[in-house]
Amino acid sequence: MEEIIQHNFQQVLDKIHRAARLSDRDPQEVKLVVVTKGQPMRKIRSVLAAGAQRLGENYVEEAVLKMQELKSELQPEWHMIGHIQSRKARGACEHFDYIHSLDSLKLAARLNHFADQLGRRVPVLLEFNVSGEATKYGFQAWDKSMWPGLLAEIEAILEFQNLLVSGLMVMPPYFPNPNTVRPYFRCGRVLREYLSKHVPQGNWRELSMGMSNDFEVAIQEGATIVRIGQAILGERQ
Ligand SMILES: *Cc1c(COP(=O)(O)O)cnc(C)c1O
Repeated sequence: MEEIIQHNFQQVLDKIHRAARLSDRDPQEVKLVVVTKGQPMRKIRSVLAAGAQRLGENYVEEAVLKMQELKSELQPEWHMIGHIQSRKARGACEHFDYIHSLDSLKLAARLNHFADQLGRRVPVLLEFNVSGEATKYGFQAWDKSMWPGLLAEIEAILEFQNLLVSGLMVMPPYFPNPNTVRPYFRCGRVLREYLSKHVPQGNWRELSMGMSNDFEVAIQEGATIVRIGQAILGERQ
């Protein structure tokens, strides 16, 4: 088990490096978040032993249990990648090092409030829905005509002193053929360029996109953070 995970982890790192070099990018520019939702502790310990530094979780409570289990051990950086319900905002703020899934002005206000109470400045990414799927969260951005209408809210979010906005996150629909996903990743990249131009006071460096099935395409399209679960840890329960 330990060996399989170590092997998968190394193989994914190699693929990340190769995809970056093939698109003339510095491999150091792409960070790996290992997504551990739905995975047992023994697998999580194995991937930490293999060298994983960042873990991603979708649910606050599930993540906190795992954090407690690892208490006296090597602590990774914890990334919140799932939708945050209002009543979970405090927990997300308190327990996570990084939040990828900031998807509304209202949530931003709550996170900022709790971060202030906790005396923290929390790094966050704004999540955009680039597919139009009703099941996806994020600022509605699947058509370019929607982008200007988002600017006022984004500027308001940048005013929150306890949130450090550092880029964006997108989650395309699932397709078995990763090339089918390319236009959605490209939309993420073009949206980042648009924000850099129209909200220049913001920091749009990070682009969190790409999962087990499609991370190489995401890197070709400019991903700086990939979120990979099953390709490393095997199927979730
Ligand atoms: C579950 C999840 C992932 C990882 O998916 P895999 O297919 O296991 O790589 C990445 N990002 C988000 C937002 C997720 O919910």
